[in-house]
Amino acid sequence: MQISPQLKNRFKNSKNILALTGAGISAESGVPTFRGKEGLWKQYRAEDLATPQAFRKDPKLVWEWYLWRMELISTKSPNPAHFALAELEKKRSDFYLITQNVDGLHKKSGSEKVMEIHGNIFRNRCISCAHFYDSDLSKLKISIECANCGNLVRPDVLWFGESYDTELLNQAVSLAERSELALVIGSSGAVGIPVELARIAKENGAFVIEINLDPSGYSRYADLFLQGKAGEILPEIVSYFV
Ligand code: NAD
Ligand code: ZN
Repeated sequence: MQISPQLKNRFKNSKNILALTGAGISAESGVPTFRGKEGLWKQYRAEDLATPQAFRKDPKLVWEWYLWRMELISTKSPNPAHFALAELEKKRSDFYLITQNVDGLHKKSGSEKVMEIHGNIFRNRCISCAHFYDSDLSKLKISIECANCGNLVRPDVLWFGESYDTELLNQAVSLAERSELALVIGSSGAVGIPVELARIAKENGAFVIEINLDPSGYSRYADLFLQGKAGEILPEIVSYFV
């Protein structure tokens, strides 16, 4: 990769580094993205299963899909892209990570300052009394009932059409506003709010670097587009930070 001296200086001198990651960063770990052939489960598209309507209509089907994803994800490990961001956190105390991923691989790789804006697939909550339950794959049954109130328990992830937690979103917006350098990694830009975060970062003066296999909904805000695999590009990028 050709990295100019000016860019290396930018890596050194920018404050409040922000990374925003999507499903693409976990692709090299073997976790399927949503928008690719391998993202399909049986004949369903994620957009038809990850919704409150789908859960109301057929909770069993939605749980089956989540159990399949949970089991699949539980066998996967972080890849060099996750580890690079964990290393960046160690190098820079003003680094923060916002992820759309629900797979927990950032935390598994050692990152601690991670905001999981779409939740975590290994956490569940009751739809009525908001009791939380950690997933125990060996015990999980389909349509599990809340021990507290008997209502349905659902994965604690943000579904299509649902609103973000206001406090979390405010924190994410303020990270984007303060950031002088933003790395956008492996996200298609099909989900609106994360793209807004990139726009906010850009409009507040951040230098935006996108890493993706293909141009995306974020590319219009990118000052630099690095085309390729996150697991190959990120470790090199992170090596320039001091
Ligand atoms: P997406 O599936 O819509 O898009 C994936 C993006 O990653 C694409 O732009 C693709 O070109 C890019 N990509 C694929 N492999 C890559 C690689 N090796 N290096 C760099 N880029 C690569 O994903 P999204 O934008 O994150 O939106 C999907 C939504 O689905 C999110 O809300 C997320 O919560 C959820 N999701 C999460 C996971 C996960 O937790 N791992 C997996 C699938 C979907
Ligand atoms: Zn309950």
